[in-house]
Amino acid sequence: MRYISTRGQAPALNFEDVLLAGLASDGGLYVPENLPRFTQEEIASWAGLPYHELAFRVMRPFVTGSIPDSDFKKILEETYGVFAHSAVAPLRQLNGNEWVLELFHGPTLAFKDFALQLLGRLLDYVLAKRGERVVIIGATSGDTGSAAIEGCRRCDNVDIFILHPNNRVSEVQRRQMTTIFGENIHNIAVEGNFDDCQEMVKNSFADQGFLKGTRLVAVNSINWARIMAQIVYYFHAALQLGGPARSVAFSVPTGNFGDIFAGYLARNMGLPISQLIVATNRNDILHRFMSGNQYVKETLHATLSPSMDIMVSSNFERLLFDMHGRNGAAIAGLMDTFKQGGGFSVEDDRWNETRKLFDSLAVSDEQTCETIAEVFAATGEVLDPHTAIGVKAARACRRSLDTPMVVLGTAHPVKFPEAVEKAGVGKALELPAHLSDLFEREERCTVLPNDLKAIQAFVSQHGNRGKPL
Ligand SMILES: *Cc1c(COP(=O)(O)O)cnc(C)c1O
Repeated sequence: MRYISTRGQAPALNFEDVLLAGLASDGGLYVPENLPRFTQEEIASWAGLPYHELAFRVMRPFVTGSIPDSDFKKILEETYGVFAHSAVAPLRQLNGNEWVLELFHGPTLAFKDFALQLLGRLLDYVLAKRGERVVIIGATSGDTGSAAIEGCRRCDNVDIFILHPNNRVSEVQRRQMTTIFGENIHNIAVEGNFDDCQEMVKNSFADQGFLKGTRLVAVNSINWARIMAQIVYYFHAALQLGGPARSVAFSVPTGNFGDIFAGYLARNMGLPISQLIVATNRNDILHRFMSGNQYVKETLHATLSPSMDIMVSSNFERLLFDMHGRNGAAIAGLMDTFKQGGGFSVEDDRWNETRKLFDSLAVSDEQTCETIAEVFAATGEVLDPHTAIGVKAARACRRSLDTPMVVLGTAHPVKFPEAVEKAGVGKALELPAHLSDLFEREERCTVLPNDLKAIQAFVSQHGNRGKPL
């Protein structure tokens, strides 16, 4: 499988190189040159497979030529073996023909484990084969950091540095990062905000002298392997609800557009998906595009669903690329306009075509809490705020009551106690068994000033299993 850039100027790469690449050299994102397509019979024959076996069948075409089948199978069995539920991604019925796909049974209780548990193992496998080491530097405001650290903690060939804004992440989220020890794990609390952290990561990619030749790898959702891993659970859910003989609709709590883009790909690979709902919080750039054909940046608002607090959705570029007949020059032009502070719209026929599949809704904090309370009253289930946004949007945008509606349950409610309390759900939430002593565990973290040179010096001092690069 070959991968090409959405801006048309960077060289095509194979899976192994795309795994290690961040942005393409032309500033674009990598996508498969040709998407695999499965027949209905083939998809139907996968019903009842354990999750890791289904994962093997769905993802195999993407890694062909880079990872032999037997190795890939072993990696997948290990990856999904760490999930705390035997079904890995169980479906729970909320209402007649309305379901939540629980994607929060991984080590850090959010769906990001599906991709980052796999990414860590794939990186280590490829690096061992090449005899190379890499450094990962990532910024987090919450879920990504802990999932990335958990995904890389056993990697022999990866040192990971996660920057979070000091005193500005929730205690559960901080502890999920700082209580994991390893000579290759480095938590840095930056005396600044999340944007400062992100800016320093970006600048480190632009100027890599401090790494003394060691490769820097991206773990944010621009990494293709993360998208790839997320395609699998759309198949998993549909197969349990009568697919592929019957179509299914999905509502996806959305920030950077990675998770829902995976659903779009599942559909293009042959899975009958009749509707994809983009569910956003008040940070609604995607809703404004889907409802009014305007892609325009606005100020950032802090919400009760912080993992969806974004101004710009990085993976949206991948959809735009398809919308424009995969014309890289057109995307480079649009992105240039956007970067210069302008917004853009796309031609009407392209937008209308997109709207045949996508609907959207922006949900306020108030509505989020109302939905948590409403679902609790009706079912006794406590939703996390992100999932609640998905449920609200599903109910508002649903096109057909005969088609099963699956809301992606992106996080466990225990990670977001503030929203749950505000919703007035009088039920004490307990940490799952593997995290029950989280608040007693020792923490390890280095506080550093909001200064690029200081961060880079720290990385060069500790980037080789805690020793200097
Ligand atoms: C990351 C995240 C999202 C948003 O996913 P995208 O792929 O960025 O759209 C939604 N909910 C939770 C809990 C998350 O951690």
